[in-house]
Amino acid sequence: MKRSKDYYAYMRSPKWRRKSQFCHRLTGHRCVLLPWRKSEECHHLHYFNFKHEMPWIDIVPLSRLGHSIVHLGLFWNSPLRPVMGCLLRISMFVAMVLLAISQIFRLIKSTMRVLLYS
Ligand SMILES: [Zn+2]
Repeated sequence: MKRSKDYYAYMRSPKWRRKSQFCHRLTGHRCVLLPWRKSEECHHLHYFNFKHEMPWIDIVPLSRLGHSIVHLGLFWNSPLRPVMGCLLRISMFVAMVLLAISQIFRLIKSTMRVLLYS
């Protein structure tokens, strides 16, 4: 996508900030390429739904380093781009499932604590 004035205006908008924050929360602020790093940026897998992006479908959370790796010519301007997009979606799905499981365990633990010690 051509980086127009409109693109930069949208990237600074509260709408994008909210959407991006929501995307980060879905993985517990974990980068989907380098999961040991904190996610700080959202990457567009494509621009078909520009301004109407859905996390996982259109955007994924990445760390700055992970984002730089994804944009390397090797993965970005090559036939590997859809493969990388697919891997990022799989990784985000796994991160969301692991986060959900950890939250369920936390809930069980706090429920047990209440039941056992009250
Ligand atoms: Zn990107």
